[in-house]
Amino acid sequence: MRILVLSIFPQLFPSFFAHGMVRLACERGLLAPQVIDLRDFAPDPHRTTDDRPYGGGSGMVMKPEPLAAALDHARRLAPEASPILLSAQGRRLTQEAALELSRRPALVLVCGRYEGVDDRLCEEAIPEEISIGDYVLSGGEVAAMVVIDAVARLLPGVLGSPDSAARDSFADGLLEHPHYTRPAVFAGRAVPEVLTSGDHRRIARWRKEASLWRTLVHRPDLLRGRPLDAEEREILGAMQETLAGILPPAEGPARPPGRRRR
Ligand code: SAM
Repeated sequence: MRILVLSIFPQLFPSFFAHGMVRLACERGLLAPQVIDLRDFAPDPHRTTDDRPYGGGSGMVMKPEPLAAALDHARRLAPEASPILLSAQGRRLTQEAALELSRRPALVLVCGRYEGVDDRLCEEAIPEEISIGDYVLSGGEVAAMVVIDAVARLLPGVLGSPDSAARDSFADGLLEHPHYTRPAVFAGRAVPEVLTSGDHRRIARWRKEASLWRTLVHRPDLLRGRPLDAEEREILGAMQETLAGILPPAEGPARPPGRRRR
């Protein structure tokens, strides 16, 4: 997969491309990232890429002309890709979105800086925006790295085992079960006995239970509306029965905890 990144800080990327799964993906010829320096497309001797905002106010805005010229260059290099702006206002990056991106032939990622990009260019030339979460970064470079990392590990042939990614959190709508490695006892705590039993059916069952329990405790929103298979139904039913045995029967309408009478 070809990935073009448009940025005013290209020097942030080489170290990122040289490590971990991204490096492996590059070495295996599965990923070909390239950073395009937006300043190379600024016509003035100072290589200016920002200007003051119309309407006044603090902060600067990315000028449209250098970015438009850089996008033309990117289009020539990867005509099959439609540009994506990293933006706090974009569609949220999820595992599902990463999987969809990993199936595209090429990506062009535009990193904003300052207060963002002149909106006329966004409307015209950048049809898609992706956010990595509900917070504001000072630039799109780290967000682009997040997208590239999430996508690279999903490219067939990058991870050691093809079903590693399929078992990761979010892949099937659940959080993954906990992991343990040697030593068998660490800080006085032993690994769960079942994991050293060699009984693969029991291990698979324990992992499923742990995965459901973690999801229920940490991200119950993931379970709402998610279809359950027979085993998941059975496990959650058993958890419900356990809780029903612990909780006293409700007396009258429940009041939200912590709410005081006036
Ligand atoms: N003024 C903008 C706003 O309120 O939406 C924020 C601009 S931010 C300081 C500069 C750049 O960082 C953005 O143009 C975008 O490229 C990037 N950025 C910031 N937060 C991001 C996020 N959550 N996801 C992806 N990119 C983000």
